Amino acid sequence: MKLCMIGTGYVGLVSGVCFSDLGNEVICVDKDKEKIENLKKGIIPIYEPGLEELVLKNFKNRRLSFTSNLINAVKKSDIIFICVGTPSKKNKSDADLNQIFTVGKEISKSINKFKIIVTKSTVPVTTGDYLEKIIKIKSNNKFSIVSNPEFLREGEAIRDFIYPDRIIVGSNDKKSNKIMNNLYAPLISKGAKYMSTSRRSAELIKYASNAFLATKITFINEIANLCEKIDVDVEDISIGIGLDKRIGSRFLRAGPAYGGSCFPKDTKAIVSSANKFNINLSVIKSVINSNNKRSKLLLIRVNKILSNKIKNKKITFLGVTFKANTDDMRDSSSLEMIPYLSKKGAKIKYYDPTGFKKEFVKFKNVTYSNSIKDAVKDSELVIIHTEWNDFKSINFKKLSPSKKLKIYDMRNIFSLSKIKSQGFKYFSIGK
Ligand code: NAD
Repeated sequence: MKLCMIGTGYVGLVSGVCFSDLGNEVICVDKDKEKIENLKKGIIPIYEPGLEELVLKNFKNRRLSFTSNLINAVKKSDIIFICVGTPSKKNKSDADLNQIFTVGKEISKSINKFKIIVTKSTVPVTTGDYLEKIIKIKSNNKFSIVSNPEFLREGEAIRDFIYPDRIIVGSNDKKSNKIMNNLYAPLISKGAKYMSTSRRSAELIKYASNAFLATKITFINEIANLCEKIDVDVEDISIGIGLDKRIGSRFLRAGPAYGGSCFPKDTKAIVSSANKFNINLSVIKSVINSNNKRSKLLLIRVNKILSNKIKNKKITFLGVTFKANTDDMRDSSSLEMIPYLSKKGAKIKYYDPTGFKKEFVKFKNVTYSNSIKDAVKDSELVIIHTEWNDFKSINFKKLSPSKKLKIYDMRNIFSLSKIKSQGFKYFSIGK
């Protein structure tokens, strides 16, 4: 099939390249001309394991191409996936749908035959209805709007695309549903569950899923707070409750506030969508509120660990992205913690396997180290912020001659007894 992905970011590029690997002809479109030129040269704009190889392979065999010319790409395609960003509006909870509607208007100028227009971006329920109205004005109805939300996780995006837990397709007409089912047939034949539903349901399934996962994380983070007061290990609690099949063991790892490009904005947006229908999603509101306080809570612990003397303290952050195996900094809790500590006068070094981060340039005494060794050397407190595998085998004895080094493991990647036996002061979450 001939496909076009509008928006070549985490979702558009990964799903575009995977669709091309399944044998489709895929055009990836982006308004960012530099990104497109780089992709044509084989320079990949994001860090995602396995992505580079797959892009090069499919670009070489001409199933995958890149362009900034949206109109031509739409004309040549049968199915158009909208994969642009849907961030929160500035200082507001609602999703900003400007990018979606701008693309909708552009598409309406290029409909030369029947097209399926799919929102892969996460959009509030009823967005498809509005999009339909926008496109209808110029297109003589030769199109169908479908919702096919994306569930891939950064860091495991390719695997998630090939082996999804489920494929959700929301469409109000049978013809489009059949075409979408055909498109996904290679994944369905490998066992992926395909759920066909109404367009509004598909839109809401995505938001409800993210809100539920954010709730699970926030729930275990609060239980961890209690564990710290009563000499109980939160990991025992996670295992104990996770063994109940009704609950399940995933997303029960206590740690910093949830961040990333999805959970913070999507929890806010579902609350805001519900408000428009006079529905109070009080559970999700409470999750947002608890998560907003989480970084402050962990910073209070940092204060205590340093006996309330942050000024001039040498603090190292290992990992600053919101999770491992991605370079994505959007809404990472390090963006709250590092500026706070810098303002209090700490001298901060950070190391991240995905390199230097422009987000910290403006802060005083915050420097990037290009190795774990350099980052840890002379440090007084190491904060393990992100659970990269690279950190799991660190031998602090080798890296830090001083037994005064304190370690605050916000991801519980080390065993309490092992690290204490090396003589370091070790602090973790929910223990
Ligand atoms: P992104 O910011 O990485 O990519 C969006 C791309 O769209 C950018 O490259 C931007 O230049 C491009 N763009 C914007 N307007 C355009 C236009 N008019 N024409 C052409 N290109 C345009 O965003 P992302 O992380 O890929 O997320 C996209 C959507 O998918 C969001 O709604 C997000 O919530 C959802 N989603 C993201 C993830 C994730 O893990 N990142 C997972 C599931 C769903």
